[in-house]
Amino acid sequence: MRQLSNYINGTFQPAHNGRYLPVYDPSRGQVYVEAPDSDEADVAAAMAAAQAAFPGWAATSVEERFEVLMKIVAGIESRAEELALAESLDNGKPCWLAQQVDIPRAAANFRFFAQAITQFAAEAHDMGSAGFNYTLRRPLGVVVCISPWNLPLYLFTWKIAPALAAGNTVLAKPSEITPLTAFLLAEICQTAGLPAGVLNILHGLGPTVGAALTAHPQVKAISFTGSTLTGAAIARVAAPQFKKLSLELGGKNPNIIFADCDYEKMLATTLRSSFSNQGQICLCGSRIFVERSLYERFKTDFVQRVKALRVGPPLAADTQIGAVVSQVHYEKVLAYIDLAKAEGGTILCGGAPVVLAGEFAGGWYLAPTVIEGLSYDCRTNQEEIFGPVVTLQPFDTEAEVLAWANSTTYGLSATIWTQHLNRAHQLSAQLEAGIVWINTWLQRDLRTPFGGTKNSGVGREGGYEALRFFTEPKNICVGY
Ligand code: NAD
Repeated sequence: MRQLSNYINGTFQPAHNGRYLPVYDPSRGQVYVEAPDSDEADVAAAMAAAQAAFPGWAATSVEERFEVLMKIVAGIESRAEELALAESLDNGKPCWLAQQVDIPRAAANFRFFAQAITQFAAEAHDMGSAGFNYTLRRPLGVVVCISPWNLPLYLFTWKIAPALAAGNTVLAKPSEITPLTAFLLAEICQTAGLPAGVLNILHGLGPTVGAALTAHPQVKAISFTGSTLTGAAIARVAAPQFKKLSLELGGKNPNIIFADCDYEKMLATTLRSSFSNQGQICLCGSRIFVERSLYERFKTDFVQRVKALRVGPPLAADTQIGAVVSQVHYEKVLAYIDLAKAEGGTILCGGAPVVLAGEFAGGWYLAPTVIEGLSYDCRTNQEEIFGPVVTLQPFDTEAEVLAWANSTTYGLSATIWTQHLNRAHQLSAQLEAGIVWINTWLQRDLRTPFGGTKNSGVGREGGYEALRFFTEPKNICVGY
């Protein structure tokens, strides 16, 4: 069995304890590689390397950092096909999706922050004849980046790139469920000439190596993307140590469709916002609210298109829905479908596993599922399912749909479909969400603040927000 390695101080190493974890290919339901089962000993070694590397890396000019990060971009682009295949194998997503979205975005993350750091400036505050203030923004030191399994390299690099660009040294942990592209990124960084110890990548379980990383007293900041439950556990550890914390957590996003929308664009986009990546995107719109006068037409057309989606092996070019990421997750999603039925929901399509033929018979495939007939406040409509499952509900008034949209503990994103300008802007202002899309979905500009309110997170990523997070401001006041 192929074994992956940790990347510590510029070298590839097994875990100190010699243990490995199985990693599954979700398309077949079989173990295909093993990853180090790291623990505190590996964290200690990585911390020593990151601390030793920090003064040198922090002292590099922004141009030097730009040069190295752009070599990483070139490395990702030159191995894009291999990375896309690896991401698809590890996660179960269609390979074309990894080719078109995940891997180009990983390169774009490094390119964006390589450029951004060369433009990043600090503030000055003039006090007229009394004097002035200027603010220095210096790197923090050793920071931790922890990412989930749904967009493995995309989200891993979204954290690492600004952390490195700002001059920090990094201890990073990918999800134990999808470690492969993080391992390949280590090879790319080594080839690109990133100095030893500047980026250290540790594999292993959340409660062991993840917890050891976040609890380490020398860690200055933690950037985490994952579930709300894990975010809360990390916050409990980090808060008493006064570490800076950026938390990107779960969502239960509303997709609000008015009768005056651009119907064809809305329908095609809603298909994507419901089921892209098997519905395993934190920004997917899993609660679809449709104005009553459009409801029956939308339901008929939407269900017809969902039924036509092809569930298949990730490498097949015509696959639209691949495998969900793990057996545990597959069972969780099926349990939510059972809950929806128990709560009185009607399954309009899907609602069951899909068993493929031959070598893929053991894979974790689910039919895209549409449910109606549930109240806005039942558990199915309040809890994050994070799979290929959406609910439909008709609404009558703006006030009603706004209250339903805001009724969950989450507040990550929302989508509005309408041609009515005032309504779109007024609703956007009142929705409890960090990100609102009007007549579009998942259209991203990396300069904008990205993140959620309520239980969807704390802080914002993206653009200068990320560079501010990964630097410490110091104000210096000069009196005349
Ligand atoms: P998860 O919380 O189980 O795991 C995320 C990461 O945290 C993994 O690397 C895991 O090993 C690590 N971890 C687990 N326990 C830990 C602990 N005690 N200490 C430190 N690290 C620990 O989440 P997941 O199942 O991998 O990902 C799915 C979740 O991520 C969903 O809730 C989804 O909405 C969320 N998500 C949010 C965003 C966003 O931008 N807001 C983006 C993608 C995914």
